[in-house]
Amino acid sequence: LVAASPCAIVISVPAAILSALSAAARGGVLFKGGGALETLAGVDIFAFDKTGTLTTGRAEVTAIVALDGDEAGFLSLLAGLEAHSEHHLAAAIRRETAARGVEAALVAEVTAQPSIGIEGLDALGPLWAGNSYLVAEKHAAIDHPALQALVDGAHTVVYLGRGPTVLGAVAVADEARASSVAALNALRENGVRRIVMMTGDRRPVALRIGAELGLAPEEILAGMLPQDKVREVGALAATGKVAFVGDGVNDAAALARADVGIAMGAAGSEVALQAADVALLSEDMERLADAHRLARRASRIIRQNLAFAIGAMVVLVAGGLFLDLPLPLAVIGHEGGTVLVVLNGLRLLSDPIRRPKA
Ligand code: ADP
Ligand code: MG
Repeated sequence: LVAASPCAIVISVPAAILSALSAAARGGVLFKGGGALETLAGVDIFAFDKTGTLTTGRAEVTAIVALDGDEAGFLSLLAGLEAHSEHHLAAAIRRETAARGVEAALVAEVTAQPSIGIEGLDALGPLWAGNSYLVAEKHAAIDHPALQALVDGAHTVVYLGRGPTVLGAVAVADEARASSVAALNALRENGVRRIVMMTGDRRPVALRIGAELGLAPEEILAGMLPQDKVREVGALAATGKVAFVGDGVNDAAALARADVGIAMGAAGSEVALQAADVALLSEDMERLADAHRLARRASRIIRQNLAFAIGAMVVLVAGGLFLDLPLPLAVIGHEGGTVLVVLNGLRLLSDPIRRPKA
């Protein structure tokens, strides 16, 4: 009976999982549960959001086109609208406006459409800011040469308009995170067979960032609305286990749809965090690859533990039944096996997932 009691089998899984969760947490990767860690070990497809995930949250306004020539008035209206948005683009526009000493106009009743733009009311009436989807929705024309010049660049373009009239646009540039290239390479080394970047931004911008990250054009999907991301994650999920990494409100549904949703914790939105199974507290994307490697190592250690624990039990029971195994030896074998699988699991505690920088 002592030899057959399954202590080692029962303890082998939680010992490894808890050690891995704890090592990951110390490295700034918070798993919401052991299930997410076990699923992550099986993930071989990674889908990434672009803005704020593979790129830094700190975008910069690189050009301003005010069609009536009044840049300050234009920026004031745009910043008034974007004052109500938590998008990285909005923050960039607000920073630029403040740097020029321009006061943001008062805009009320603001509603945002994820991956499209934002609308509100100022003293003169309804006002909108967003991308070409919103321009089309407002039946506005953007064939002005100054606007075309912005479109020809590889930067994100935000148009500001009132009804069908476009007042102007700004170009905003974001940059790939320094850690993104290394993280993608490390994931491929871990055996991830497919990496995809999905963005609501325009294709030229997506291609520029993708090239910096070493992604092939077929690994880049641009102009995606939130529901497109969900659909693509679903299509990927039909071919393997998918992790989606995102930061925005527009990513929440895809985060929920993926086998493992991973949200950028520090700079990401609340909704994304809620929908995700894992939060990355650090801006260092390499931690993500580390966490994936750690999850795979945990799953190997669990398999070792289970094989050892079951093997030891079979040997001890056979010894007890057929070889007159003395009770003290059965106890030592049983307790010893339990201690060994726990120690094996505890090895994960010292896994060198990168420590947060002090
Ligand atoms: P990503 O999927 O790369 O994170 P988003 O889906 O968040 O990008 O944004 C996609 C596009 O939607 C932006 O490039 C921008 O054109 C438009 N957009 C989103 N939010 C806003 C906003 N607050 N103001 C203006 N444009 C916005
Ligand atoms: Mg984003």
